[in-house]
Amino acid sequence: MIAFMNELVTGKYFATVDGTASENHLNRNRRIAQFFLFGVAIDLLFIMAEMAAGILPLEDIIRHPMLYGYVFLVTVAAFSFFGAMIGSREDHLEKLALRDPLTGLFNSRYLWTRMDEQWATGKREKSDSSLILFDLDFFKKVNDKYGHPVGDELLKHIGKILQHAARRSDVVARIGGEEFVFFLPNTSSTAAAAIAERIRDTISRTTLITDKKHQIAITISAGVASTSDYNTSIPRMLYEKADKALYLAKQQGRNRVVISRESKKELSKKIETRV
Ligand code: GH3
Ligand code: MG
Ligand code: MG
Repeated sequence: MIAFMNELVTGKYFATVDGTASENHLNRNRRIAQFFLFGVAIDLLFIMAEMAAGILPLEDIIRHPMLYGYVFLVTVAAFSFFGAMIGSREDHLEKLALRDPLTGLFNSRYLWTRMDEQWATGKREKSDSSLILFDLDFFKKVNDKYGHPVGDELLKHIGKILQHAARRSDVVARIGGEEFVFFLPNTSSTAAAAIAERIRDTISRTTLITDKKHQIAITISAGVASTSDYNTSIPRMLYEKADKALYLAKQQGRNRVVISRESKKELSKKIETRV
């Protein structure tokens, strides 16, 4: 019971592994629960104060049950209402702090937080995590040819494609101008590479038709890195491995997916030990 109350007021009860508070209204629900309990506590304190002052609230309650019930309900409802208002505000602020305003995808702050969390879980549960780093090819040319606002429109369009391709547990973030990250908990490098390839293929076959009826086609390159045994000490290393692979993808002619050499080694090591 105490553990449940603790989870209720700390918000763990409402927390889910994926998504932020802003999406799931975690703060709002948590604040409603907290203020509800606060309202109940105030009512109980009031009754205890009456008893301490020599007034007999129990007799009063029996005599005027409706009145006491009414006061109880109004107090609790008013507190819960204030809780909902404060919590909604917190959800909104959290959304501003964790989302990229242009695409609505997560920002790097959220990505690193989730990666740190998953790092601990993954180590404990011995499960692989993968990271895909995407970078649009020759995006500067789009800006130069059609202007920055059209470039922004294209970024939003790509953001939607990426979001659509993501599973519930994946984190999709925009971490730079035209760089996007997919963080895939409990996913091997082979599975991550297949996802990256599917996205690359979708983007290469899509054209954006702008308001001025320009048809813009673009391609994307990707670097994939995974950790199979968490010998990588920090999540940053996973990003660096993916970045190196992305660099190779650009060097090899763009519009392609490259798996990090280290991840491949780890993969083959794993296969060898299985044989
Ligand atoms: P590469 O294939 O090597 O990645 O070439 P690239 O042209 O995509 O890469 P480069 O790094 O030279 O250019 C990235 C461009 O992205 C430059 C910058 O003007 C543009 N950019 C960065 N942020 C934004 C943004 O928020 N909106 C728009 N429209 N453009 C942006
Ligand atoms: Mg770039
Ligand atoms: Mg680029």
